[in-house]
Amino acid sequence: MRRPPGGENVDRPLGAPLLRWTVLGASAVRPNPGGACAGYLLEVDGAHHLVDCGPGVVARLLTHVRLRDVDSVLVSHGHPDHCLELVVLRQALRYGPDGRRDAGMPIYLAPGMHAQLDTLGAAFIDDAATGPLPDYWSPVIVRRTFDPAAVLELAGVAVTFAPTSHYVPCWAMRFTDRHGRSIVYGADGGPSAAVTALAQGADLLILECTFPTRRGREGDLGHLAPDEAGRLAARAGVRRLVLTHMFATDDREAMRQAAAAACDVPVDLAREGDAWTV
Ligand SMILES: [Zn+2]
Ligand SMILES: [Zn+2]
Repeated sequence: MRRPPGGENVDRPLGAPLLRWTVLGASAVRPNPGGACAGYLLEVDGAHHLVDCGPGVVARLLTHVRLRDVDSVLVSHGHPDHCLELVVLRQALRYGPDGRRDAGMPIYLAPGMHAQLDTLGAAFIDDAATGPLPDYWSPVIVRRTFDPAAVLELAGVAVTFAPTSHYVPCWAMRFTDRHGRSIVYGADGGPSAAVTALAQGADLLILECTFPTRRGREGDLGHLAPDEAGRLAARAGVRRLVLTHMFATDDREAMRQAAAAACDVPVDLAREGDAWTV
């Protein structure tokens, strides 16, 4: 793979169908200055899927695609840095100038999140005279819950899941297109045999790297340190590793080098606007 000017890696023959991963938000916990929290655009053969929807993601999504052309949304877990912008997405779909769609946007939530969104939606009213809506999200958003034990077939891509090691239930996702090419998103989580198994042989692995080092955090296995991300990539035999979910205040280049020292594949840092094509 090579990285041409413009921040995109290309590793496919000219004219081949597209499987592209674009970073909308690569920040952890809260947006880095000028950035956004977790959010990624997966493009496959003309279809568009939004993966996670953290604060700041909608503005960046709109620089790539109209909302009416987003085929589906997947949410890995219920932490605010991965789902809070769903409220903004709902507002945009209901009242924004480009939100008009024939049908609601399907959002595939991690198990347990349907009730969480009930609570979140109940905090808002559109009209003081009518009060809270019976379902804040309907009809512009159609909530579904993905079954982590099943294959989720979306436009152009099949999605499989694995549980991560995190503070709340969280799911890593493997996206495989009809040519067998695959991108794995680790969502949030520390070292995990299940995520390593899910990522076996992937063309591209996106892993969080929230901790600059394991030192001083030996008892907290809910996030990865860079050497752990590198070892996970090496064990999974992936072709390229991307580190994301990082604080701008950390020395990210040093973290990239620490991950690269633990595996023998190229390691990149995710920054908002970067894209990889496999
Ligand atoms: Zn989390
Ligand atoms: Zn997070």
